[in-house]
Amino acid sequence: MISPAAIRNIMQSHGISCRKSLGQNFLIDNNIVRKIIASADLTESDLVVEIGPGLGALTTEIAHRAGKVIAVELDRGLLAALSEILSGLPNVEMILGDALKIDFDRLAGERTGEEYGSTGKKYKLMANLPYYITSPVLMRLLLGRFNISIIVIMIQVEVAERLAAAPGSKAYGALSLAVQYFAKPEILFRVPRTVFYPEPGVDSAVVRLTVRPEPAAVVCDENMLFNIIRSAFGKRRKTLLNSLTGSALGIDRDTCLSGLRNAGIDPGRRAETLSLAEFASLTNSIIEANS
Ligand code: SAM
Repeated sequence: MISPAAIRNIMQSHGISCRKSLGQNFLIDNNIVRKIIASADLTESDLVVEIGPGLGALTTEIAHRAGKVIAVELDRGLLAALSEILSGLPNVEMILGDALKIDFDRLAGERTGEEYGSTGKKYKLMANLPYYITSPVLMRLLLGRFNISIIVIMIQVEVAERLAAAPGSKAYGALSLAVQYFAKPEILFRVPRTVFYPEPGVDSAVVRLTVRPEPAAVVCDENMLFNIIRSAFGKRRKTLLNSLTGSALGIDRDTCLSGLRNAGIDPGRRAETLSLAEFASLTNSIIEANS
């Protein structure tokens, strides 16, 4: 059971203080923990990789339901307290490491002795993610094509809205498209700031990303797709013709115009109105017009 008093006691007895720079806001509400765990549909055959176990609020409950947990924590200063908290749980392995650098497939294989790479079994990823690295971690997990089936994360509510946003909405942007290309995002529930110690300045939401077996669109060049999306949203108030030709992409006006026309997209439209399928067809048309 977690509580503000229990967290404070553990921190005091181990001489730990919260490191704001590492996004350390610890969960202190057992109901929210239970709801997060239920969102991952865990069974005894599941391997779960957790990013940022902190003081083990999620780790303990994941360990009760999954076959094995590999918990990757960046802060060496938490490890003594964490191993005390997790001491009765033989199916948890703590790893000192950086989620922005680890090869998760390799880690899963090394720690289980089983194949978890692209041809092997899939695993689940769970995290109450530090706010300061939400997008980079997420993009690393998806672009790295790690063999993950679902990602259940708690993140800042505004970022959650960006992940799940549809064309035409204010939250829709490059992050929405990149994430939706690789996965199906669902905002499951909102979490008030009061369930953390210390209390952060923002509210959170729990999001489940079901990773697609194949990306949601077919393109000749994935890098080109993401470059086009970034350029288009880099100047989101301009028309597509102006934002794409005036960007670092190096596409001249004629190529851009014929790419847009061949894809059936009005050059006067703005990035926020285009679906992923339209961005994909624009990418393929521009590649064709350039060749
Ligand atoms: N899971 C715990 C909970 O829910 O109470 C702690 C969550 S806290 C928001 C984020 C945790 O991620 C902290 O323990 C922090 O030290 C850790 N962390 C920060 N940056 C990290 C990184 N790059 N790789 C792994 N862990 C990181």
